[in-house]
Amino acid sequence: MSESPSPRDPKSSLPAEPNWSPRPNDADLPVGIPLLRIPQHGTGFQVVVSREIVGVDTHYFKGRTLPCTMPVCPACMEFSPKRWHGYLYVMSAKKLTIAAVELTAGCAQQIDRAVQNFGSLYKLIIQGTRQKQRANGKIEISASGLFTGAIPELRIPPIKELLKRIWSGGFKHVEEFLAKNQTPATTENEGA
Ligand SMILES: [Zn+2]
Repeated sequence: MSESPSPRDPKSSLPAEPNWSPRPNDADLPVGIPLLRIPQHGTGFQVVVSREIVGVDTHYFKGRTLPCTMPVCPACMEFSPKRWHGYLYVMSAKKLTIAAVELTAGCAQQIDRAVQNFGSLYKLIIQGTRQKQRANGKIEISASGLFTGAIPELRIPPIKELLKRIWSGGFKHVEEFLAKNQTPATTENEGA
């Protein structure tokens, strides 16, 4: 009884106890949350589940949208124009699925106006549409009030974390840029 903790079944023995964890950490969550640019067929009704819009200057650079990383920004160095984009989480009112939506400056303005009208960003019911069904048609957001139902408990990373993960694959050019332009380090070498 007072011997070693457990005469273990050798088949199931492990060198150490697993690191049990009842819920995934934010870092474990898949980037399975899609980033919606307002599609040509519109977004349908979506309920905002963010409490603020996260905005950032972006570049369309090397074939993808990436954030401006000034003061070290290769896209700026190549005079790539900057465009503000905002991001928030929405839940599909119909399917209860979560997505991040990318907003233009114009959309953000429309949302701000709706927030003034309806009193809250959180639970605002919005619908994104794209004019004239063109890929580059102007996009608009209309709001139709506040969602009165309950929002289920959501296990979603802060939107900045989601964006950083989505964008991380596109940051090779920043690393290359830094490697090329590195001035001799004054502090300890960081192993580069
Ligand atoms: Zn930049």
